[in-house]
Amino acid sequence: MLREPKGEPVAKIRIYEIAKLLNIENKELVQRLNEMGLEVKTASSSIDEEDFKRVRSRLEGKAEEVVVERRVKSTVIRRRVKIVETKPEEGEEQPVEPEEQETEPAPHPEEEPLAPEPSETDLSETAPPQVEVPEPIEAIPEEEKEKTPAPTPRKEARETAPLPKPPPAAKTAPATTPPRKPVSRKPPPPTREAPFVKEAPKPPSPAREREEKTKPSKSKRRRRTPPVEDEGSFRRRIFLRGSEEILGTESGERTELPRVIRPITPRKKPPPKKGIKKPVITVPKAIKRVIKIHGEIGVGEFARRMGIKSAEVIKNLMELGVMATINQNIDRDTAAIVAEKHNHTVEDVSFREEDVFQEEVQDSNLILRPPVVTVMGHVDHGKTLLLDAIRETRLVDREVGGITQHIGAYRVELPEGAITFLDTPGHEAFTAMRARGAQVTDIVVLVVAADDGVMPQTIEAINHARAAGVTIIVAINKTDKPDADPERVRRQLSDHELHWEGWGGDTVMVDVSAKTRKGVKELLEYILIQAELLELKADPSRMAAGVVVEARLDKGRGPVATVLIKEGTLRIGEAVLAGVHSGKVRAMINDEGARMEKADPSTPVEIVGLSGVPGAGDIIRAVSEESLAKQVGEFRQEKLRGEVKTLNGKQVYLDWQQRIIEGEAKTLRLILKADVQGSVEALSESLKGLSNDSVKVEIIHAATGNITESDVMLAAASRAMVVGFSVRAEAKAKTLAEKEKVRVRLYRIIYEALEEIQAARDGLLEPKYRQEVTGRAEILEVFPISRAGNVAGSYVKSGKISRGSMARLIRGSEVIYEGKIVSLRRFKEDVREVSSDFECGIRIENCEDMQSGDIIESYELVQE
Ligand code: GDP
Repeated sequence: MLREPKGEPVAKIRIYEIAKLLNIENKELVQRLNEMGLEVKTASSSIDEEDFKRVRSRLEGKAEEVVVERRVKSTVIRRRVKIVETKPEEGEEQPVEPEEQETEPAPHPEEEPLAPEPSETDLSETAPPQVEVPEPIEAIPEEEKEKTPAPTPRKEARETAPLPKPPPAAKTAPATTPPRKPVSRKPPPPTREAPFVKEAPKPPSPAREREEKTKPSKSKRRRRTPPVEDEGSFRRRIFLRGSEEILGTESGERTELPRVIRPITPRKKPPPKKGIKKPVITVPKAIKRVIKIHGEIGVGEFARRMGIKSAEVIKNLMELGVMATINQNIDRDTAAIVAEKHNHTVEDVSFREEDVFQEEVQDSNLILRPPVVTVMGHVDHGKTLLLDAIRETRLVDREVGGITQHIGAYRVELPEGAITFLDTPGHEAFTAMRARGAQVTDIVVLVVAADDGVMPQTIEAINHARAAGVTIIVAINKTDKPDADPERVRRQLSDHELHWEGWGGDTVMVDVSAKTRKGVKELLEYILIQAELLELKADPSRMAAGVVVEARLDKGRGPVATVLIKEGTLRIGEAVLAGVHSGKVRAMINDEGARMEKADPSTPVEIVGLSGVPGAGDIIRAVSEESLAKQVGEFRQEKLRGEVKTLNGKQVYLDWQQRIIEGEAKTLRLILKADVQGSVEALSESLKGLSNDSVKVEIIHAATGNITESDVMLAAASRAMVVGFSVRAEAKAKTLAEKEKVRVRLYRIIYEALEEIQAARDGLLEPKYRQEVTGRAEILEVFPISRAGNVAGSYVKSGKISRGSMARLIRGSEVIYEGKIVSLRRFKEDVREVSSDFECGIRIENCEDMQSGDIIESYELVQE
């Protein structure tokens, strides 16, 4: 072997290139090389030129395996593989073995079906020398070949048809067949050789030779093939020739087709036919035909578990008269009927919490409990100061100095009785608890500043309290102020159906001053009187149940929750369950910072020992065993996950509509927010007028201003719908609405609002479109352009602004104008959309009143 001269780089050839050249799979080549003792790992490894030559001759030598055929009987041809070693290095034509020659001129028809039928594209893509490189014949066992059904008729045909060329029987006269070594005729294509072998001239490669060998003789080609113009198309021609033969031989039979013993390349083996497998319908095992559900199941999930299409289930449901969409849940009984049709059964494995917490209430055990009071009212009307004043009253009375602990609630003991105050003023807190089904408040103290009178939040508070069905006691505060006018407040309140006792009404109104403490004691006494009338009772002998008022994670003590006991008595060491968290009461501390052993009804206590931080409004229960508490907690968590999964806008809507249709008290509750008082009144009246015999339309809260979290919370707690007219929903409110499954509808045209609410009343309201904010831009400067109108030079703050989309112009928190974005420009160029952090010129159709600092909020109507 020649070595490369020192210093000169040894030419390296990549394995994949060789594979390509030799028409061998990369993997196979790597394997073969390894067998030859050459260390190559992957197709991108390389070997030097010398090795390449060696490998090539070896591999190509192998390719000299040829099929020798011999007719044994008239219908049987025996084929044998014969390996002919060639030594291409010698650069000379090798004397061709007669057997080899025999195979060349007469490509056997029987071989044809064995070789894959390459498509034209296949061929055209295939490098010319590769196609005909004979591959190891052993790839196809002889028996298999003989068994191949296709050849038989062909053989017969061949025998009967006049063959233009001697059949394999030529074998019998090998000497007469002149060797056709096409070396001189067909020099190897330089394009193929060049990249691999630098040395020139190169002896014709054995592959080339073989290729030539497999070609028909010149005379035959003249007769049967179109002129070959270039090397690259040669393979293709052969194939085409074959096609021609099929189409136009004298015999009209395929027998004429294969004159060439087609190389059998494993690579070209037709892939196993990937016919579309017919679905095999199997009946699952009985155990798999039981669908375990937790009370109810989503239609989609139900169909999936039965292995049938959702549409099928929906169809079945329709047959049952149940109109359900894929996202809706169906109850156990309905599911059972459908399941039966599909040979399945439904098993309700839902955990029945009632079973765990079932306990009979015995009237004899009921005792009066202190009222739980929440203070509500407009901001700055003195809620906090009043709560402080009340707390101080308690401290002064008991002469307890110093430290009090703020735990979110406290208890005031008076000679006449005790009162528990929730120390969390604000409507959200109140409603949040209610939204979670925890109605803790018995009495609402509505604080109205005597100098300010009834304000929007005062009305909101009234509506919240009313929606909760809670008694209202009015505390007219700041009466110490010179401009205080309690009379005016009373008058204003009577406009909201709160009539003072002194004027023949039934509402207690007490003049107080949180600052001077005047009237505070009186207020407390009135609260107790009211509580007496309410006859608030509880059974302290039961297992405790309460509501989480506040909860937080304390660094030292872990999750800490302030709990208001509603029923029973909670004791230290008891297992508890709060929302999804369980635990054991390790410590109990009251609002005065004292450790407690037990807490009875209406007592606020801080408890330590829960596994996690529960949410405000979560119900807390004492459970007989800690393991049981844990089990229920886990079950709830699972359920919660499931709920979150299926929760979407439509579902929310359907749930909500379902409630109306089912006639949950047959009342359609609305919370109305509009831009101006006039609209509020007009809409309120019109909407109330939609009440009919079957459904009552009730407006539980109506006010001016945007839709706030508080509105949504109220809607959630009251199962109401929020209707906005020429207002928008605040971002937080939107998020909350989604979370709490509250339906918020925004309108700009009164009759549209009325039409829709009417449809909602009739349970017919189809989900339509909702507005989805796509971007917000701030106006930096307004450019009056005489013909076109005002253009707002703006900066896109978030999302993107798109031309053609709807936009509203917001000033402060007011919507000034609403219209279509008719022009959107960047650097005098019209653009389709502008993303955040870019400046642009925006023109809203017919919008003239634009000011710098205004916000342009673009939105899209999205179908719900
Ligand atoms: P909240 O927002 O309703 O909690 O109101 P605050 O309790 O924070 O009180 C708002 C402001 O009103 C504070 O500056 C208080 O000092 C003042 N304030 C509250 N109650 C009275 C009162 O009875 N008389 C006077 N003069 N000022 C009061």
